[in-house]
Amino acid sequence: MSETIPMGALRVGHGFDVHRWSDDPERAMILGGVTLSGPGLDGHSDADAVTHACIDALLSAAGMGDIGSWFPDTDDRYSGANSVELLSQVATALAQAGWAVANVDITVICDQPKIGPHKAVMQSNLSAAAGASVTVKGKTTEGLAGLQGGVQCQAVALITQRTTQIGAS
Ligand SMILES: [Zn+2]
Repeated sequence: MSETIPMGALRVGHGFDVHRWSDDPERAMILGGVTLSGPGLDGHSDADAVTHACIDALLSAAGMGDIGSWFPDTDDRYSGANSVELLSQVATALAQAGWAVANVDITVICDQPKIGPHKAVMQSNLSAAAGASVTVKGKTTEGLAGLQGGVQCQAVALITQRTTQIGAS
């Protein structure tokens, strides 16, 4: 064991996100900060469901709200926003609140596109933004009805408290 984990409370957080396919053939498909071929996903920001689930898991673990309260889809500032940059902002906010990210693990549930070939770059993008290990794996639904209309993601994050006196909620 060469890695030193800060002492303090451990907190786990879960994130979930889903975006449906866009009708706009020009819309880019972005997952985990990687631009993929194929139809894009509908959403106010870049609709990066992988990164959104990661953000929600982290915010939830810290008890700091959720992606909708931080980056409202009614706010024009986040129209077409780069979600990996939003993840960086959230990671910075967690650090300022005294939390260190231990790791995040994300499952991407979709039949298209195939995640495997892009996994390494997604992990690299997200790990850099989160400042900790982020792992990504893809699961197909084997064509199960109802899941072919978009991309679902689930994420779990573990964070540790750097100090014992973080503002009471
Ligand atoms: Zn989303």
